[in-house]
Parts: sequence; C-alpha cells; structure tokens
Amino acid sequence: MAELTEHELHFLYTQRIDESAVMDCSWMRSHGYKREMEQEGYLWCIAPKSCYAGHRLRSRAGHCIQCDTARIAFVKRHYDRAYIYIAGSLELKVVKIGNAIWPERGVAALNSRYYGGITDWVMLYHAKYEEAGKI
Ligand SMILES: [Zn+2]
Repeated sequence: MAELTEHELHFLYTQRIDESAVMDCSWMRSHGYKREMEQEGYLWCIAPKSCYAGHRLRSRAGHCIQCDTARIAFVKRHYDRAYIYIAGSLELKVVKIGNAIWPERGVAALNSRYYGGITDWVMLYHAKYEEAGKI
C-alpha cells in the first residue's frame, strides 16, 4: 500500500476528499487501473505514474486533480445524486434538459434569467438519480 504524503493528505483535506476515497493504484499497470477503479467504485486514486509535475492523485478518467482542481468539482457533480429535469416552453416550442439539486428553483431561475430569450419555462418532468451526470 502506497502511503499518501503529507502534501497529498493536505491537498485532499483542502478539497474535502476523504483519504479512504482514494484507491491505491500505484502498483498497477497504467492501462488497467481506470477499469479497476470503476469496478471498485472509486473516483480518485494514487496513479501508477506521476504527472509531468510529479503529482500522483488522479481522477478515474486519468486527469491529475492536483494540476487541475476544477476536475474535482466536475467529477463530483457527475456522480452526485441530483434531479434531471425537462423544462419546456409553449411559446417557442422547445425543451431543455438539465440537472439541478432543486429543480423547481432551476426552472424559476431559467425564467428570471430570460434563458434562451424565453420566460414561460415550465417543468415537464423531473426525477432524482443517483449518478445524475451519467444520465
Ligand atoms: Zn499534476
């Protein structure tokens, strides 16, 4: 088991990632670890190879989360439980599919922001999904 360095532990702490959520893939082959992570349900790992900057922490997609912390929010959002909604406008006969934590607020925000030049957005459908980003 590879040990996380003090620097890595501090990084994980600042990004609110529990160290138990990091899979040790340091001993694996570069081409096999992403599939292993998926099977084990991990989003983060100690990668077999460091990035060009010497970091070891990666997302399941293989991106260095230390070089690009925006990846963390992206991945978390992808796997978060959230509502998928379909909103529609009768006036312009269009639909919009989105995800939101509070779908009613999301549709209200579309109207107040004049989204797509439309102010008659109504909720047509919404349902809660475990991994909303996948849907
Ligand atoms: Zn890096």
